[in-house]
Amino acid sequence: KQAQYEAIRHEPAITVDGKKIDLYVNAGLQVDLRHLHESGAEGIGLFRTELQFMVASKLPSLKDQIELYSAVLDAAGDKPAVFRTLDIGGDKMLPYMDMAAFKEENPALGWRAIRIGLDRPALLRHQLRALLTAAAGRSLRVMFPMVAEVAEFKRARSLVDKELARLAKFGRPAPAKIEIGTMLEVPSLVWQLDTLLPLVDFVSVGSNDLLQFLFAADRGNPRVANRYDLLSPAVLGFLRSIVVKCRAQGVPITLCGEMSGKPLEAMALLGVGFRRVSMSPAAIGPVKMMTRSLDVGSLESYMEELYALPVSSLREQLNSFAKDHRVVV
Ligand code: PEP
Ligand code: MG
Repeated sequence: KQAQYEAIRHEPAITVDGKKIDLYVNAGLQVDLRHLHESGAEGIGLFRTELQFMVASKLPSLKDQIELYSAVLDAAGDKPAVFRTLDIGGDKMLPYMDMAAFKEENPALGWRAIRIGLDRPALLRHQLRALLTAAAGRSLRVMFPMVAEVAEFKRARSLVDKELARLAKFGRPAPAKIEIGTMLEVPSLVWQLDTLLPLVDFVSVGSNDLLQFLFAADRGNPRVANRYDLLSPAVLGFLRSIVVKCRAQGVPITLCGEMSGKPLEAMALLGVGFRRVSMSPAAIGPVKMMTRSLDVGSLESYMEELYALPVSSLREQLNSFAKDHRVVV
């Protein structure tokens, strides 16, 4: 199989019926950057900036952050790279931060990600300053994690504007272009999509968090996490409604949770309407192979009938589609 993946590494991910699919990688550290080209991916769909903070023994300096972000942009070259601002708290602790503040009964629902960023704006502004500086004269794509409502997105975005004004005040160069988006990983924000979409340049579905919140099932607890199938009508129908809204408003949408890295799940995502997915580098080969053997138009029509089925999983139906249509999953 490795040899087969190798053979299509530089081939595009185009479906049998001619739809171009963008396969991006998730990354987080400098060592991940070589995977971008090795895997044959077309961009970095999710750069998890918290990893630099998690492996350090103290808060990374502005200089450290600028260095890493510049290296990411250098490595990406003409390919897009999407930076996600700090997603700490929950299961991602910083050893040098005051742990008492993080003691909570339901960390996944607690003080984490953009909530910390908005409550401690100096931390977030520092990071935004590093991102804007690293991207001087080039394109910058930034998104915020765990945004739960439109007002939070607007507050986070206004910090970018403040940092831009600061750069201008000191006569420093700004990025040539800035795109600002948000993770879609809290169900309440999905409920506000109509209000959100005109305000964002793109969205990225974080299915790991979104689905744990949708099912009220801790992603870290196998007893409940595995109780619900990612290929349930609830999940796929929910994702379908998100894609339909984004398409209608012309807002680019990616899915960057773990499910996009499994061929059958990725097939279902394309059937739901996603045309851009981001995954771990090792998944690019198998998912590209699947894509190149799929007639996505037929799958979309086939799935129309499935969303309303009163079953807890559509795995069987999707597997039989793959088998009947010789999709490599
Ligand atoms: C997600 O929640 O799906 C996601 C991509 O972010 P993380 O796994 O880093 O929370
Ligand atoms: Mg998440």
